Amino acid sequence: MQAIQIHSNGGPEVLQMSTLPDPEPGAGEVLIRIEASGVNFIDIYFREGRYPAPLPYTLGQEAAGTIVSVGPEVDGFRAGERVAWCGVAGTYATLAVAPVGQLIKVPEAITTAQAAAAILQGMTAHYLLHATFVPQFGDSVLIHAGAGGTGLLLIQMARRFGAEIITTVSTEEKAALAREAGAHHVLLYTQEDIVARVREITHGEGLPVVYDSVGKSTFEQSLQCLCPRGVLVLFGAASGAVPPFDLIRLSQMGSLYVTRPTLRDYVATREDLEQRAREVFRWVGDGSLKLRIAHTYPLAEAAQAQRELEARATTGKLLLIP
Ligand code: NDP
Repeated sequence: MQAIQIHSNGGPEVLQMSTLPDPEPGAGEVLIRIEASGVNFIDIYFREGRYPAPLPYTLGQEAAGTIVSVGPEVDGFRAGERVAWCGVAGTYATLAVAPVGQLIKVPEAITTAQAAAAILQGMTAHYLLHATFVPQFGDSVLIHAGAGGTGLLLIQMARRFGAEIITTVSTEEKAALAREAGAHHVLLYTQEDIVARVREITHGEGLPVVYDSVGKSTFEQSLQCLCPRGVLVLFGAASGAVPPFDLIRLSQMGSLYVTRPTLRDYVATREDLEQRAREVFRWVGDGSLKLRIAHTYPLAEAAQAQRELEARATTGKLLLIP
């Protein structure tokens, strides 16, 4: 099999195409031929070593494909079925082994590439809005990086709650995409005073929630956009990690809350995983959740995909096609 591995941490140049023996599925596992693999920001954190992993390490943790063979003690899955999964390392590859507990069958109504594009970012948007902070009808919410893979899905899903959506993006082109996805107010955070604009939109009140995946460069502004007892959902660090923070400031700024959620904890049970994935796939299948698969790359160009993602040059989803 072919796989994109790293042998050291660093920039995109550390990605190398390797030829490895085909893996064998163990007990409770299946072998899958990957048809599409998602490129996510978390892959960059692993490459850099911000999230440590033993080396050599095969990057990627989101894919969809067809089961080639099943290991012992596997019930309910068979060769030839289409499946999608995330949270298991090693998907920048032509083949992967995954435990059946992580697999979701791909419904007829969607393509394998759509399943790979939706499962990680779709379930992320789903848990953030259905479990981390649930907006009430009419709430104003701020979603940073609204034209990104996760951002475009968050905007569309937040519309289902009847929220007034404020989002931030870096360019006019991205602003148009965020508006198309359903955002009511699109702010250019590279040019505008976000706090002032949010205060203006909310008539001075501030927001009950900010969904912030940008981290270092937006953290302070996100806090300042909140109303008393508001919640900052800090779910990523695309601009870098937030520096250490004195908790007394939460009290001084209005008894604020900060949470740092991660998908793993919101799909920890099979019931949660199935419920979130099935709902996301159903919405993709019935057309009510639009995926923007804006960039596809051959597996060998994984480094280029990561370069563009971290240079803010992408919108929507990036896929590697082995
Ligand atoms: P995106 O497609 O959203 O790409 C990241 C975007 O962040 C860029 O397009 C850019 O949009 C914005 N950005 C702002 N500042 C920077 C910067 N300095 N460098 C790079 N990008 C910047 O990526 P994903 O959808 O894959 O991930 C978005 C975030 O969500 C990541 O932080 C990721 O870790 C997080 N995440 C968290 C999960 C969780 O469970 N906690 C699960 C999934 C994703 P613009 O040009 O408009 O500023």
